[in-house]
Parts: sequence; C-alpha cells; structure tokens
Amino acid sequence: MQITAAVVPARSAPFEIQELELSGPAADEVLVRIVASGMCHTDLHARDGYFANLPYPVVCGHEGAGIVEQAGAVVTDLAPGDPVVISFPWCGECEPCRAERISYCSNARPLKSGGRRGDGSTPMRGPDGAPVYSCFFQQSSFATFAVAPAKDVVKIRCDAPIDMLGPLGCGLQTGAGAVLNVMQPQAGQSLVVFGVGGVGLAGLMAGKIAGCDPIIAVDRLPARLALARELGATHILESKGAETLAKVRKITGGGAHFALETSAVPEVFRLAVDSLRGLGTCVLVGSARAGTEVTFEMPWLQGGRTVRGVVQGDSRPREFIPRLVDLFVEGRFPLDRLVTRYDLADINRAAADATSGATIKPLLILPH
Ligand SMILES: [Zn+2]
Ligand SMILES: [Zn+2]
Repeated sequence: MQITAAVVPARSAPFEIQELELSGPAADEVLVRIVASGMCHTDLHARDGYFANLPYPVVCGHEGAGIVEQAGAVVTDLAPGDPVVISFPWCGECEPCRAERISYCSNARPLKSGGRRGDGSTPMRGPDGAPVYSCFFQQSSFATFAVAPAKDVVKIRCDAPIDMLGPLGCGLQTGAGAVLNVMQPQAGQSLVVFGVGGVGLAGLMAGKIAGCDPIIAVDRLPARLALARELGATHILESKGAETLAKVRKITGGGAHFALETSAVPEVFRLAVDSLRGLGTCVLVGSARAGTEVTFEMPWLQGGRTVRGVVQGDSRPREFIPRLVDLFVEGRFPLDRLVTRYDLADINRAAADATSGATIKPLLILPH
C-alpha cells in the first residue's frame, strides 16, 4: 500500500515528506493507521546519527497511536477497529524478557535502531523499489501507516482520545513508571525532579498521584517551571548548582527521599545524587551518549543511598499504559497539558521547537 512518511534521507539531514510503499503485516504483526505520533528526543538522536547501527534513509517515530487496520494471521488479541498505542519492542526470548523485565530486553538495540525487523526484512520501499529503512522501535510511526509486532501494541479504551495518547508509548511511561513502578513512594515522601520536559513532568504528575510532598521541580527554563507548578510541583527551582542543592536540602528537611534525573547532563546527575537523604533513591532515566562519565563520593553512597538506571519506567505496557489512560480520563494525569500539535508536513519545525524547549512534547498529526 502507499503511505506518506517523514524520511531522514541521510545522517543529520532534515526530515523529508515522501510517498512510500509499505508491505502488509507479517503473521504476528498488526497494520496500524497512525492518527498521531509523539516526537521524542530519541527520534532526533536517530536523525543525527547517535545510533551507529541505524542505516539511512530511515523513517523514525516511536510514539505512534492509531487504529488497527489489519491483523496478521496468528494475531488473536487485536482486531481491525481497535484503538491502540504502540510501545517499545522486546524479543520475548532473552533472560530479561523471560523474567518479564521486558524493557531490559537483551536484543533491544537491534530491535530499536537496526532499521529492520528482527528477521532482517524491511517492510518499506521507495517509489524506485529500493528499501527505505524503518522498524524504528519496530514501528516507525512518522508515517500514515505502520506495521508493528502485535505483542508491543496496547489496546486502549474506546472513550479515550486516541490522537493524544501516543506519547504514553515511550516518554510519558518512562517518567511515570520511574515513580509509580520503581520508586513506589509513600504519601508524604519528598520527590525532586531534575529536568521538567515531557519525561520529568510525567514523573512529577505521577509523584502527585502517589501523594509525594514536597515535589520540587528543577530546570533552566522558567516556562517549564511555571507549567511544573501548575501540574503539582510544590516548589520550583532554577538550576544553579550548589545553590539549588542547598535549597533542596532545606525544603526537604535534609535531603529528598527520591530524585528523578531526566537531563542526561553529568553535573545535573551528580546534583540529583547529592540531593538525596540517607536511604534515598535516585533514578536515572536521561539517556546520555556512550562514553559519558560521572563521579560520586563513595562515602555518600554508603549512606544507604541507591542510584539506578531505569528504561521505559520498568513498564509492562499492556498493564501500565491502560492504567495511565484511566488516570488521564479521570483528570489525574493531564498529559494534554504537555502536547503541542503539528501537521506532519511541519515536522522540522516540531523538531526545532523540541530542541529549543519551546515545545515540551510535539504531537505530529498524520494526514489521511
Ligand atoms: Zn528480550
Ligand atoms: Zn522515546
């Protein structure tokens, strides 16, 4: 079938809208008519060549939401007409997958950024018949239609606005899951969020749901801090190194129970770790480039403090995303406050706005 997609023609080149051919779903896949797709910084990292294994030309996008158009031969739990969010890929066979820790799949790298299906095939072609690489996070949702493994696809309640929900598939479940699945704070425990982009704000909203108090937002951009205040931050702090640390310690009465680090900046990560009280936990979700290092004081960690990395909020999407959708419908997880809509044709403007921080979460509307 013919589709319209945003293609990255070569490393670091701007997105180009092209007409492509997409082959139908494999037996264990579904074909999804993409209504809207979130844009995540990972898509821009892919455009810019951060992934050594990613071939070009390529179609990115990994926060797709839409309607199932066709189900593959062996798919029994999804049917045409189902509203769905497509989440991250996992192989189902490695040790973490068998232990249901699917966000730590040992084969995640080729499945996310190899540009092909797990079996090496490529479902997209250019008008000249040459392959266009896709299967980014096994979806490539910057396109009017996508094929995705059915097991990565989450059915959504029919009364929820499906156009808004794609970002739950990656960025928003990352922040919310870091708090609700990993930290599991008690009401009245303190949370400090470093970086209040989409991931950080999702973590902050989750902290409010859990009853955290105080909830402190730290960022460099005043507009984001203002939004953080509206979404539940009890305190907002401009990021200023040691001065910020002193304020966090004062507000929390000696240090935070929990810190969420989303910036991937080593100095900020260090600040997040230093902001913990004894027995506190810092969760790292920001993804830094390979080779990035950070230092801590060893005695500090011996105070019972935990520092751990988390991928996709430890989420099992088929359980966690419907829970977040329920919270959204109840008005307790107002993700609509984070998104800004763009037509697919304006994807380069969306990318620039995401990079500058002018937009927290671009939502690309696919033309149909
Ligand atoms: Zn696996
Ligand atoms: Zn992402």
